[in-house]
Amino acid sequence: MIRIRRTSSAPAVLRTKGKNKRRGHSLSYTANPAAYDSGALKFEFDGDIYAHDDVKAVLKAMQHDKCAFCESKVSHIAYGDVEHYRPKGGFRQHQADVLGRPGYYWLAYEWDNLLFSCQLCNQRFKKNLFPLIDPAARARNHKDALRREAPVMVDPSKEDPADYIGFRAEVAYGLDGTGGRGEQTLNALGLNRVELVEVRRDKLKYLHAFGQIVRTAADHPQNAALREVAERAQQQLDRAVHDSAEFAGMVRGTVADLGG
Ligand SMILES: [Zn+2]
Repeated sequence: MIRIRRTSSAPAVLRTKGKNKRRGHSLSYTANPAAYDSGALKFEFDGDIYAHDDVKAVLKAMQHDKCAFCESKVSHIAYGDVEHYRPKGGFRQHQADVLGRPGYYWLAYEWDNLLFSCQLCNQRFKKNLFPLIDPAARARNHKDALRREAPVMVDPSKEDPADYIGFRAEVAYGLDGTGGRGEQTLNALGLNRVELVEVRRDKLKYLHAFGQIVRTAADHPQNAALREVAERAQQQLDRAVHDSAEFAGMVRGTVADLGG
């Protein structure tokens, strides 16, 4: 995960159709709160609005086509999801809990609540999980104050994940002094799932090789051909820490070891 800079103005479809939907959901809830709290009534969310092509396009550009959580490039293998940081249809404090209703329905079309993610992070891991440091402070409907909530999950569009999650080579770990937020975030999102760790290890392997080329060239300054190759290797190392690079968070965390 890396820090994501959200564009300040919401895509138009959220400001128009999304706003109307939010008003409709709020009125429905106010008319029949008990039925929504029990799950007898459920909101019907319109994916044509919150996951509209325009919304997805802005999120993808903002996130360099990478999953907000695992930093994998998405579009060459999958459509990717428009993900709700605060889950719209129900919440869980722990993965084994019964689904809490009605969920953050009033944030379903809220720009600040949307991120682009891969299907695995969203559908296999995060799902409706949204733990709070103090569960009693949870906003249960659109009249409650969100600012009382202290979420456990790091929001990369509001906080710098590097303050919470570190890397030992390709393995992510929760940093001390974060009240366990880093650890819980990476576990909830499966950021050390085997397949992901494997791809990150491969990336580090070739970056290490580039670092070796750069160091060898420095030891042999008279070798012009080697110097030329080393310049290209250094360019790759420099590029690997950019926001647009896959797994930039890991590379930044281990860049001192690469020797480039
Ligand atoms: Zn992901």
